[in-house]
Amino acid sequence: MNYKEAVQAAAQQATAKGYEPKRAEWLLLDLLDWSLTDYVLHMQDEMTTQHEQLYQQAVARMLTGEPIQYITGFQSFLGEKFNVDERCLIPRPETEEVLMYFLERLPKQSVVADIGTGSGILAVMLKRLEPSLKVYASDLYEGPLEIAQSNAKLHQTEITLMQGSDLEPYIEQGIRLDGLISNPPYIDESESVDMTDTVLDYEPHQALFAKEHGLAIYRAIVEKLPQVLNDQALVVFEIGYNQGAVLKQMIETMYPQLKVDVIADINQNDRIVAFKWSE
Ligand code: GLN
Repeated sequence: MNYKEAVQAAAQQATAKGYEPKRAEWLLLDLLDWSLTDYVLHMQDEMTTQHEQLYQQAVARMLTGEPIQYITGFQSFLGEKFNVDERCLIPRPETEEVLMYFLERLPKQSVVADIGTGSGILAVMLKRLEPSLKVYASDLYEGPLEIAQSNAKLHQTEITLMQGSDLEPYIEQGIRLDGLISNPPYIDESESVDMTDTVLDYEPHQALFAKEHGLAIYRAIVEKLPQVLNDQALVVFEIGYNQGAVLKQMIETMYPQLKVDVIADINQNDRIVAFKWSE
C-alpha cells in the first residue's frame, strides 16, 4: 500500500463516521512531520512497515473522535509547535489575535501574567516575541503547568510558573503587574449542545466551562485587580462571541473610572475585552 492509498482508505472510514475526510491527510502529515510538499513527493511510494503501524493506530484513535492534536501530541500556534495532551485545551487560532493585541500595546520590560495558562502558549510566545518581558504564568491545575513547563523548555524561554486560583498566587507573593492576559474558561454549560463531540468528549471541561453564564472566572480576576495591577497596566481577556457587552458592563460597574474596549476578531465575532487600569 502506498501513502496515498492509506490516506484514501482512512478518509473513507472518516466519512462513514461523519468526520471531515481531510482529517486523514492532516493526521498523516502531522504524524510524520511532513509538509504538503513532502506528502505529494512521497504519496506514490510504498509505505514503510513502521509508518503503516503508526498510521493505523492513529487512524483508529481518530475514528473514535479523538482530536488529531492529542493523537500527534502537538498543535501549532503562531507558526510554532506546542506540546498538548488531554490535560490542556488545544490552542485555537483566535487566541493568536488576542496575544498580538496585547503584545502590540505593551511597553518593553513590562511585568506580565497569563492567568489560566493551560499549555502555556500565551506566556511562552510573549517571552519569545519580546524577551525583555518578565513573564509569569499560573494555572489552578498541576497537569497544565507540567505541559506549560515542557513548552517553555521546548522554546527555551524563561517563564515563572505558579499554581493557584485566579490572582491568588500573585497576591500571596506581592507581585505587581504591568500587563495581564487571560483566556480563561468562559463557555456557559447551556452552549454544550452546539459543541462537537470531538471537543466535549476529549477536551478538559474545567478549561472550557464557567459558571455565571461563563463569566465567573472573569469576575474572580476583575474583583482582585486592585491588589496586583500597577497604574496604567494593560488588561486583555479572550471572550466568547456573546460576552463583550456584558463583561464590559461588569467591569465598568465595578470600576466606573475605566474605559473598556470590546474588539472583534477576523471573523467579526467579539473576541477581546481590553482596558488600561487606573485607580
Ligand atoms: N474558544 C474556545 C472554544 O470555542 C473556548 C476557550 C475557552 O473557554 N477559553 O472552544
